[in-house]
Amino acid sequence: MIAAQLLAYYFTELKDDQVKKIDKYLYSMRFSDETLHDIKCRFRRELENGLGRDTHTTATVKMLPTFVRSIPDGSEKGDFLALDLGGSNFRILRVKVTQDKKQPVQMESLVYETPEDIIHGSGTQLFDHVAECLGDFMEKQKIKDKKLPVGFTFSFPCAQTKLDEAVLVTWTKKFKVSGVEGMDVVKLLNKAIKKRGDYEADIMAVVNDTTGTMMTCGFDDQRCEVGIIIGTGTNACYMEELRHIDLVEGDEGRMCINTEWGAFGDDGSLEDLRTEFDREIDRGSLNPGKQLFEKMASGMFMGELVRLILVKMAKEGLLFEVSSKENIHNSIVFVDYMTSITYNEMLFEAKSKEGLTKCKEILTRLGVEPSQEDCVAVQHVCTIVSFRSANLIAATLGGILTRLKDNKGVARLRTTVGIDGSMYKMHPQYARRLHKTVRRLVPDSDVRFLLSESGSAKGAAMVTAVAYRLADQTRQ
Ligand code: BGC
Ligand code: MG
Repeated sequence: MIAAQLLAYYFTELKDDQVKKIDKYLYSMRFSDETLHDIKCRFRRELENGLGRDTHTTATVKMLPTFVRSIPDGSEKGDFLALDLGGSNFRILRVKVTQDKKQPVQMESLVYETPEDIIHGSGTQLFDHVAECLGDFMEKQKIKDKKLPVGFTFSFPCAQTKLDEAVLVTWTKKFKVSGVEGMDVVKLLNKAIKKRGDYEADIMAVVNDTTGTMMTCGFDDQRCEVGIIIGTGTNACYMEELRHIDLVEGDEGRMCINTEWGAFGDDGSLEDLRTEFDREIDRGSLNPGKQLFEKMASGMFMGELVRLILVKMAKEGLLFEVSSKENIHNSIVFVDYMTSITYNEMLFEAKSKEGLTKCKEILTRLGVEPSQEDCVAVQHVCTIVSFRSANLIAATLGGILTRLKDNKGVARLRTTVGIDGSMYKMHPQYARRLHKTVRRLVPDSDVRFLLSESGSAKGAAMVTAVAYRLADQTRQ
């Protein structure tokens, strides 16, 4: 009993020490509320620049009009196909929307591989692949003889002048396909389908995954007017007053704006907050100098950030310091090897004994003999990196929320934010931290966070349903 108490005491001491050491080491990754408020204000200015007639072309946060003018109103119905490309999986879905009260939406889906040589290949290869998978899916659904309306969730920045036209501005995340930037992806896909000639499809709408998420959540909660993704990449959309959108004619009503907040900082406006690790990540990326906010906050870069920090700490003797020579060597190999480990496994940092055990397990599996201190340190590095992400996103989301509040001219904002993305869904502490910080940064608000249970494709089908109904009306 006494021994156990002593041990617990010793361990707490040790843990506190270790935590303090790392806190000091990663001081520049920990933001005060003052800094977060400052980021929130900087981001609000970006929103305004992106919307303005004279500032839009040079704005870093692009604020792309989506031509989605309302969230679902419950009158949507029909049989649709949905493509979902650009997230962690390429999925094809069949979405049936009925007026059935109990189960208004039925979905069936398949995940298709998108091999490395395709996401780094040519546009023709990519769209031939998409068209082939769509053909396969229709075959399996026995609907190859039908011409169903298709909604296309395409999770990259696109310039749109209508729903069924989307010119890719730039690739992001893991994609770098030649000959697609500056092109309309609807045209490219139609061409690939026509070339095959074995089925027809009517692509009615292209939506960003944020818009898809907002629409999915909007189906269940009419108050939903923001959509965010914190997954491989990160981004947000929200409903803006048309009178503030200089790029689009008309002053009445609202339109969903795809902010493309991942590009925040690309003009240098976050330089004071970026660290040497952020710069290293950027240098080694597919798109240096671009998506700098995304590289600080989204899931695709978290594991690598942790790894780079651990490499530096190991080299400086701050980690694995009680190890043998061989162990130190192993440790460096371990941190180098870590890129291939999924970040969710790396970010096992639930502040608990289980978290620590898991940490030890992984380090040991990799051939390192970590001391208790090492495990505490690695765990704490993970905490700081993921906490910084949640803080950054709370700040930018705070910018959007204060804008919504001002647009409505209310003293207190009541709204719903639809969210999706692996980082938000899988990380044990992430959601709670994000919610808490948002509430602190925008105190005069009641924000409901709604997890999109069924992904963004359902929302894409909703948009398609509305487009289909409108097209039908003009035909008649
Ligand atoms: C893309 C956005 C997308 C986000 C989340 C970013 O890299 O630019 O269009 O919404 O990732 O998938
Ligand atoms: Mg306007």
